[in-house]
Amino acid sequence: EEPFIRVEHLTKVFHKSRGTGWLRRKRGPGFTAVDDVSFQVGRGQIFVVMGLSGSGKSTIIRMLNRLVETSSGSIAVGGRDVLGLAPAELRAYRNRTINMVFQHFGLFPHKSLIDNVAFGLKVRGVDRAVREAKATEALALVGLGDRVHAMPEELSGGMRQRVGLARALATDAEILLMDEPFSALDPLIRKDMQELLIKLQRNFKKTIVFVTHDLNEAMHLGDRIMVMKQGRMIQTGTAVDLLDAPADPYIEEFVAEVDRSRVLTIGMLTGTGTATGTGGTGG
Ligand code: ADP
Repeated sequence: EEPFIRVEHLTKVFHKSRGTGWLRRKRGPGFTAVDDVSFQVGRGQIFVVMGLSGSGKSTIIRMLNRLVETSSGSIAVGGRDVLGLAPAELRAYRNRTINMVFQHFGLFPHKSLIDNVAFGLKVRGVDRAVREAKATEALALVGLGDRVHAMPEELSGGMRQRVGLARALATDAEILLMDEPFSALDPLIRKDMQELLIKLQRNFKKTIVFVTHDLNEAMHLGDRIMVMKQGRMIQTGTAVDLLDAPADPYIEEFVAEVDRSRVLTIGMLTGTGTATGTGGTGG
C-alpha cells in the first residue's frame, strides 16, 4: 500500500550565502543542508525528525510544504507529486492538506476561546455550527470545555498554550508540520503539551511531522523517529529500535540520555514486555 507521505532522495543545496562579499564567495559551490534523505509516513502517524541544530530538520519540513525549493528528489502525498503542483493546486495543498504550525501559539486577545479555536476553520469556509462544535470538542480535550466563552486574559500562560494547541489541531488540514513547537516552554508545561498533542492527534486523526532536537520528546511522541546528522539521515525507527539497536555511536550517545521510564509509558510498547530488560547498561 502506498504510504501517505513518500519522500525519496530529498536533497537541498543552498547556493546563496546569507552573507555578502567575500563571505558569499567563500561558500563556493553550495552548501548541502539536506543530503539524499528518504522516508515514509503512514496516515495518522506522528513522525519525528530529530537532530541537533543545523542538521537540516527545518529545511526538510519546509520542502514538504514547498516553502523551500527542492534541489533534487521527490515528494508524494496521497500518491500525488507535490513538486509538480501548479500554483492553484499548491494553494489548495497548503490550505487543505498541509499546515505549518508555528512556535508561538499566540491568541487573538479580543476573541473568546471558542472564537480563537474556530478561527482556524473560519478562514477555510467551514459552516459556523460545525466550526463551533469542533472548537468545543478541541477545547474539551485540552481541559477547557467549561471555559469556552472565557477571554485569553483570564487564563494562565499554560492554559493559553493549550488553547493554541487546540486551534492548531482543530483545522481541516490532514498533515501538520510542527517545528520545535514546545522548545520555548518550561518543562512542566512542555510535558503537559506533549500529552495533549497525542490526545488531540488521535481524536482529530492528524498526520504530524514533528521537528525536535530533544530525543526524550522524540521518543515520547514519535511513532517513528528519523535521526538527522549534518544533513544526512542516520537511522529511522521506533523508540524501541533506537533504544535497542542504535545504528552507530552517535545515536548511542543520545540514547544514553533518555529517560526510559517515560518512553515506556507510550502505547506502542504494550506487549513488548521485555523492553525494560534491554536497558541496564549503566552509565
Ligand atoms: P535545523 O532545523 O536542524 O536546525 P536547518 O534546516 O535550519 O537545520 O539548517 C540546516 C543547515 O542549512 C544549516 O547549516 C543552516 O545554516 C543552513 N541553511 C538553512 N537555511 C539556509 C539558507 N536560506 N541559506 C543558506 N543556508 C541555509
